[in-house]
Amino acid sequence: MSVLSAPPPGSGAVSPLSILMVASEATPYAKTGGLADVVGALPSALARLGHDVTLVMPRYRDVGNVGPVRQRLHLSLDGRRVDVGLVEVQVAEHHRVVFLDCDALYDRDGLYGHAGTDHPDNALRYGVLCRAACEYGAQLDSSPSIVHAHDWQAGLVPVLLRTQYATAPTWRGVPVVLTIHNLAYQGLFPADTMDTLDLPPSVFSIDGLEYWNQVNFLKGGINFADAVTTVSPTYARQILTADDGEGLDGVLRQRRHLLRGILNGIDTSVWDPQTDPFLPVPYAASDLRGKRDAKRVLLDRFGLPSDDDSVERPLIGMVSRMVDQKGLDLILEARNGLMGLPASFVVLGTGDRRYEEMWRALAAAHPERVGARIGFDEELAHLIEGGADLFLMPSRFEPCGLNQMYSMRYGTVPVVRATGGLVDTVRHVDAATGDGTGFLFEPYTASAMLTALRSALAAFLDRARWAAIQHEGMRQDFSWTVSAETYVQEYRNVIERRRIAGAARAYPPGE
Ligand code: ADP
Repeated sequence: MSVLSAPPPGSGAVSPLSILMVASEATPYAKTGGLADVVGALPSALARLGHDVTLVMPRYRDVGNVGPVRQRLHLSLDGRRVDVGLVEVQVAEHHRVVFLDCDALYDRDGLYGHAGTDHPDNALRYGVLCRAACEYGAQLDSSPSIVHAHDWQAGLVPVLLRTQYATAPTWRGVPVVLTIHNLAYQGLFPADTMDTLDLPPSVFSIDGLEYWNQVNFLKGGINFADAVTTVSPTYARQILTADDGEGLDGVLRQRRHLLRGILNGIDTSVWDPQTDPFLPVPYAASDLRGKRDAKRVLLDRFGLPSDDDSVERPLIGMVSRMVDQKGLDLILEARNGLMGLPASFVVLGTGDRRYEEMWRALAAAHPERVGARIGFDEELAHLIEGGADLFLMPSRFEPCGLNQMYSMRYGTVPVVRATGGLVDTVRHVDAATGDGTGFLFEPYTASAMLTALRSALAAFLDRARWAAIQHEGMRQDFSWTVSAETYVQEYRNVIERRRIAGAARAYPPGE
């Protein structure tokens, strides 16, 4: 088990970086949302650019048997010994995943919870993820160039690196970047978690990880990381405000000089209408007939009529966690208006019981026009992207959002709220020129959403105009290459900043 060694400090050489990532989910192994897509794709993109990436994540039940345990870490937490096996999977040259094997913590149904309830020991489960990642790094022969921690589940990595691991030789001078994929999830636990996880008491402070007398993993990460990124430039600005800062806007404002928004890419090999195995017929912008086939199959799959007249009717798709963040409260409020639109709906998702029930009830009341599938179904998600005409994302807030990018790539026109990454990826169709890639609405109101949908449906009736919008969307480059290069730039900035800070600390010698 080795990573490339970092270039000699101060050499200025543009040499490949060795990146140690820590995250709680990654495709194709375990996924609950966009985080998995990002952590699945970013390492591959970095490896393609010539860098070396090791991802550390838990071996959940979903991951299955990925190989034998070849090394064990013995962690000591509050007098308790936790043994963690390491299972290494070489994904590609310069790209590997190290799974943490610990059945007592990870071998169960659901990543973070089950049947609507969080696992009660999540502080321990993700405390161990962070501790094990630091310990794994400490035992490497050579230092990584940088550590990249994702979301609250990896939020203790910066804290541990600057405290308990500060003197470990491999960790000396290694900077850490934290990426916030969603500020609404912070990993908030009771104060006695400090003991359970053997955290140094000094960090239980207002400028550490203490938050109203609780332990906040994400706050700790923000305060101890050398740089903080989030997944779109607009969201990076929004989280500095009280409205969108989820109680951490003050902390983020203090660290704003270290905060940067880097737009996510999408995995264009997985999300490609020309090769997608979940579509009945592949298609490209030059010939969209396959999209019509996908629509027919999709209507069938939802038990909606699929005769020629029905295929002509505009079809609005949604694939989403059914929670307030994704605008489900707006949909609840607007449901009568939505049902009054000249369109059909296909919806896939899970989440809050009342929203699941709402969609079930709408499907029962409008069996010819509304199909709802409550569950998580990757294959159906692809078919909806391919077969729908419009894709609705009325998010209250949206750090980046991936589905709108998938939609555009599949010639499915997004109708989205103007927030976060949706603003940075969808260009509103200009009423005069017809130029644009989708329809945005600003106020978080049912009427604004319905107005945007009506404009989109009016455009749909004009074949030439609609085709132009579809083509413009399909032409966009959302591939990871640009984002991965931006991350590399950010890593190099952070490494350089830390090198200069280290040199300043070491001067005058002997102090
Ligand atoms: P978030 O991470 O906030 O849920 P994103 O748009 O960033 O939202 O990413 C969501 C990802 O999860 C997308 O790949 C989407 O297709 C997928 N997804 C969400 N719900 C489902 C579902 N019920 N079935 C299949 N895929 C889903």
